[in-house]
Amino acid sequence: MSEQTIAVHLPDGAVREVAVGTTPLEIAHSISPRLAAASVAARLTPLAGANETTTTTTEETTEASMYAAEAAGASRLVDLSTPLTTDIQLALLTEKDPEALTVVRHSAAHVMATAVLELFPETKLGHGPATDQGFFYDFYREKPFTPEDLEAIEKKMHEVIARDDKFVHEFVPREKSLAEFEKDGDFMKTHFVTRFTKAGDEVSFYRNGKFVDFCRGPHVPSTGRVKAIKLTKVAGAYWLGDEKNPQLQRVYGTAFFSKKEMDAHFARLEEAAKRDHRLIGKQLDLFSIQELAGSGLIFWHPKGAMIRKIMEDWMREECIRRGYSLVYTPHVAKVNLWQTSGHEGFYSQNMFTPMELDDGMYRMKPMNCPFHILIYKNSPKSYRDLPARYAELGNVYRYERSGTMHGLLRVRGFTQDDAHIFCMPSQIEDEVVACIEFAKAVLTTFGFKEFKVELSTWDPNDRAHYAGSDENWNLAVGGLKRALDREGIPYKTIAGEAAFYGPKIDFKLVDVLGRLWQLSTVQFDFNLPARFEMEYVGEDGEKHQPVMVHRALFGSVERFFGVLIEHYAGAFPLWLAPVQVGLVPISEKHIGYAVKLESALKNAGLRVEVDARNEKMNAKIRDFANQKTPYILVFGDKEAEAGTVSVRTRGKGDQGSMPLDEFIAKAKALIESKAIEL
Ligand SMILES: [Zn+2]
Ligand SMILES: [Zn+2]
Repeated sequence: MSEQTIAVHLPDGAVREVAVGTTPLEIAHSISPRLAAASVAARLTPLAGANETTTTTTEETTEASMYAAEAAGASRLVDLSTPLTTDIQLALLTEKDPEALTVVRHSAAHVMATAVLELFPETKLGHGPATDQGFFYDFYREKPFTPEDLEAIEKKMHEVIARDDKFVHEFVPREKSLAEFEKDGDFMKTHFVTRFTKAGDEVSFYRNGKFVDFCRGPHVPSTGRVKAIKLTKVAGAYWLGDEKNPQLQRVYGTAFFSKKEMDAHFARLEEAAKRDHRLIGKQLDLFSIQELAGSGLIFWHPKGAMIRKIMEDWMREECIRRGYSLVYTPHVAKVNLWQTSGHEGFYSQNMFTPMELDDGMYRMKPMNCPFHILIYKNSPKSYRDLPARYAELGNVYRYERSGTMHGLLRVRGFTQDDAHIFCMPSQIEDEVVACIEFAKAVLTTFGFKEFKVELSTWDPNDRAHYAGSDENWNLAVGGLKRALDREGIPYKTIAGEAAFYGPKIDFKLVDVLGRLWQLSTVQFDFNLPARFEMEYVGEDGEKHQPVMVHRALFGSVERFFGVLIEHYAGAFPLWLAPVQVGLVPISEKHIGYAVKLESALKNAGLRVEVDARNEKMNAKIRDFANQKTPYILVFGDKEAEAGTVSVRTRGKGDQGSMPLDEFIAKAKALIESKAIEL
């Protein structure tokens, strides 16, 4: 590298020699003015290591990630106006890049804070990160914002955007900026600067027009680059999450590159709301949560219970077919067991509090694992007994704070389709392949076409953090990788994300709205076999410790059911539908034929409901249609005489009449093949 020029490596492999201090925007211009106009920010990656980083933040981690210094060697996002000073790999981020949207959304948060201070100058600022869905900003103001205030703020934001003020990056000596914040009573900014910078630092600020904010950036070049915005809600939040602190107002909004994309986003949200499993669960009478019994506890009504029975039957039969042994274990156990397993220590806050009986303290089980280990340990094992695969649809109870429950998705009591595989190290790869194939079978059978896979591994530089030997970790991670490769499944590796006791594979299914749901997990465990001193006698006649794998494929039966309800919007495939055929006699005269039909269909194994009410035919058809019944059979004199039925198929309407036998054969074929469509 010469003193005056640096080498900028572009994604297509081209290398540009440019003067020190050249900006990404200038490089974009030199490529094409269109690229310059389309670019939002830039990603710089040191040439030595090209680690991926992600800037999407959750509410919990935003504070630290917004201000904390970046890890050395990682790639980072910068403004287009940032002068380049060393040889570097540069990527210009345009609308096509999801990271660019994060920059736009965070810039929209600054625009919102600008608007708030112009309208309500007494407001104190907290912080305003981008989130998965948009952005928020925390404000402190004695009077809460009203819906009218939000409208006014949004209107003012459009003015700020129209001004197209540049986002200017400035640096201020730390002591000077702290003195100013303290003088103005900006207690939150004072906190952030104190916490995330140190004495002697030049503190990073961004200015747009008169508005200045403590921020590490990056930002879009100017406020005009924030194209489509909408404020969505305001919610209370305690400063630093402590209820003794002042209550803040967290104003949420979202931003997109275009109005069209934003409209599509809100249309998706509307569709998701219509599919909300809590709403459909009520409409179709599938399940309920009873206040008298307590929150987070699910009551399965007859129709929901029918679907659950089908799910469970399928799962148990598949387990048996795939070489698992079914077991049943209790719902409670002595605290001593939880001490041996370690749950009493590291998992205690997620467990129901103990109950005292005459012979000791007991606790509801939060996991089934220790129970399956006790079954394993009940008799001596040799290498010939391995792999031992114990499966159970086990009810577990976990403590969630009241008020945090959400329908079937977040509950206090649920059923895991849990299994534990105990095997020899040499069997790991084949066992993992079998788990992956089983997981794929679950997803495709229940109608999900797409899924994403993540492999969470350890951080070998952080050895002290992990239980188990290096050898075991390498064996397990290697086994997981080879299994995924053998199955030809693309996956994302996340280093350092593994639990302390072993690496894992997570399956995330993609539903009909493109939402990701975490369900199946295949998790290694080097900890429990050691804690319980598990062993088997190997071929060498010596005692060895087996390898343990936890795996759940539905994850939780409740949660999987919730996802199914939303995925199908309650219109379940025929094999899952609690009522498959609705019978509609045209008048009371035809009840006799209805009874005959009902028994013929039931004998053929179909689930049938007759509407014998003295109601109009159309009302009966409408009611079955509202229940999303796959088939509605209508019949009067003509059909009764000919032995036929007039068929209405869900989503397809009137299909005309057909002989009963033909209808039964058709329906049975669809059930047999677990067809998704009718
Ligand atoms: Zn910022
Ligand atoms: Zn387990």
